[in-house]
Amino acid sequence: MSGVAEDKRSWIKSVLGVELAGGSQGDAPQAKGPAQGGTDDGEDAPNARLPGFLGTIQDGVTSGVKAIGEVASTVSHAVGIDQVAYALGASASSGMAKDSDKDVLAALKGLADGIADLKKAGFDTKQLEARHKELSDYEVAATKFDTDDKRFKAFDKIKKQAGEALDQSKELLKQLKAVMGESKDPPTDEQKAAVYKKSIEDLYKISIEVAPGMTNTHFDKMFDMFASVPKDHVKQDSLKKLLYSKTGGGLYYSSSGKIEMGDFGAADGEEDYEIGGKTVKANSHDVTALHEVGHAVDQEHGLMSSNKDKAGCGGWKDENASSVTTTFVAHLKTNGGFSETVTQEMLTNAVNAALTSGDTTQPDGFPDDDWQKIIGFLVDKCLRQRPGQSPWFKDAIVVGDRGYTQSSTKQWYSYLASSRTSTLVNKYQWRSPPEWFAEVYAITWLKKKKPPSAVDSSVAKYMWQEGS
Ligand SMILES: [Zn+2]
Repeated sequence: MSGVAEDKRSWIKSVLGVELAGGSQGDAPQAKGPAQGGTDDGEDAPNARLPGFLGTIQDGVTSGVKAIGEVASTVSHAVGIDQVAYALGASASSGMAKDSDKDVLAALKGLADGIADLKKAGFDTKQLEARHKELSDYEVAATKFDTDDKRFKAFDKIKKQAGEALDQSKELLKQLKAVMGESKDPPTDEQKAAVYKKSIEDLYKISIEVAPGMTNTHFDKMFDMFASVPKDHVKQDSLKKLLYSKTGGGLYYSSSGKIEMGDFGAADGEEDYEIGGKTVKANSHDVTALHEVGHAVDQEHGLMSSNKDKAGCGGWKDENASSVTTTFVAHLKTNGGFSETVTQEMLTNAVNAALTSGDTTQPDGFPDDDWQKIIGFLVDKCLRQRPGQSPWFKDAIVVGDRGYTQSSTKQWYSYLASSRTSTLVNKYQWRSPPEWFAEVYAITWLKKKKPPSAVDSSVAKYMWQEGS
């Protein structure tokens, strides 16, 4: 959609006699009606080569129509915008822009400048550009919020996030100087990796250890992932170390605040998640990195230990072999249709053997007909949840209104089956309460999508939300 509403465009043309650049075919990121609060588009234009910034310039013009007094100083490379800005400045009446608007735009401009510097130095700035565009879009949305309170809260968020992103760009430039010294050559891949490694260590106070012979570290991608969440999710007491090893996947050690990243090869593998009922592909390295950060956030704030029983957090309950057996036997007694020969003790022994040792041998004295009625249940509900079967990669095992899983040989859980529907992002989420949080956390930040609406606000506030 256009950055400038069509009626505004024709108004500008009729009153000021200038044609505004960027018609309805323009590439501004989202629909932007007339701004309520007005913004100052300042001197943003020199960074117009950044895709996200183009949107902001167009937005600035939209807003500039309201913030007439603020536009006179505009310096723009976009011809149509120059003309409008000049014309508007010439007919300035009153400045309607809020002070915070200027601060927000200054923050966004500072970030754009930082990105431009990094780009010049040969860095891949995709992540920061996306961040800039995201914040710029949110700034536009915020100018339309219906109360000052909402607007100012949004502005505060943008300033904070833009400031953090700017710090990231500054950190990289600082480490580039440190690594390159007096050299005028462009940095090699090894030098860039060293810059990212030092930047992670310095900015987030995380020590990095690389196992001998491990080369697929992808420090750049890790830096980008850390940079895509609020800084205090990464720079915190429960995240102090990053170990690269030759094993696969990722791990988080709560006792030492350590993330272990395995060998992700070229880091181009993908896995499936669900967002809003649709399957989306997530880069395995990136989503794993964020998943492990999610564990650290959970650990630091005790999120799942205090909220796991809520329906919006999975409705988890600690179980053990005995409690699961009791529930399953009660279910079988009600629904199994067994003959009177089958006693509670026989059912208990059969279920317990299947759950704890994977044994489904028909016991002496258990009638054949009755055994045929229970064997399917034992295989489907008991054997399949044993950790050796990796139940966390498979469909739910539901008995009554709850799902059951053994997350390890010692750890048993059940969860609300209805929550698996309403808060689902993938199967692995249903391994345990910490995995539930880490998976929802990771995919919301990676894809910049809100968590499922059923996710409880006590934990959703740590996940991606608009403007975060
Ligand atoms: Zn995990």
